[in-house]
Amino acid sequence: MQKSSPLLLIVSSPSGAGKTTLCRRLIAEFDDLRFSTSHTTRAPRPNEVDGRDYHFVDTDEFDRMVDDELFIEWAHVHGNRYGTARAEVRAAATEKKDLLFDVDFQGARQIKQQCPKAVSVFVLPPSIEELRRRLRKRGTESADSLHRRFEAALEEIANHNLFDYLIVNDQLERAYDTLRAVLLAERFRHDRVVHLAEALLDL
Ligand code: ADP
Ligand code: 5GP
Repeated sequence: MQKSSPLLLIVSSPSGAGKTTLCRRLIAEFDDLRFSTSHTTRAPRPNEVDGRDYHFVDTDEFDRMVDDELFIEWAHVHGNRYGTARAEVRAAATEKKDLLFDVDFQGARQIKQQCPKAVSVFVLPPSIEELRRRLRKRGTESADSLHRRFEAALEEIANHNLFDYLIVNDQLERAYDTLRAVLLAERFRHDRVVHLAEALLDL
């Protein structure tokens, strides 16, 4: 009896809405969920660890990976490039884990095109003012980067139709509970667990 392939769970949001916070919590709670560590040409922030938060690469290395078709998707986001290596999907399958992607809407669209069963969640801020407040308060971005990210937010939100679920991150606990509920429910879709019923009928 063939067990289903890994669940691919995509989480996107405008910068500052809280997707990293939510994704980190999900990874900490579920040890059968792998975080897809992206490659980026962006410089690391002080608290970021190479290989954990991102694979930080220069533009030549990124170009080489694009040419070698090593990415399942990649995109220009806020003046840098970000991409998901195909190797992440293979690793999840080998480890028999589900896979969590933190990618922007362009990445979500590309993953969905190639893997239509992927499940996508878009995290909304409670308001645009609160989004700006959170991003400023995080204190990680230069004035230029803040500006780019604020400018991009409305275009990102305008792409909400690409997503299966919309979660408002107002109260963190409530937003986390909702994201967790999506993961748990999606794991029990009929086509993912049909082998459980078939195993009983084979007896
Ligand atoms: P993103 O990954 O979407 O850019 P982060 O997870 O880095 O966003 O969150 C942006 C900032 O907002 C962080 O400082 C984080 O601690 C804070 N934050 C996240 N969720 C909430 C929330 N529900 N209420 C208040 N602050 C939040
Ligand atoms: P940050 O610089 O704040 O870490 O991320 C900026 C944006 O890039 C976020 O929207 C994040 O989801 C997105 N991102 C991170 N990794 C990838 C990736 O591999 N592919 C794509 N398309 N976007 C990514």
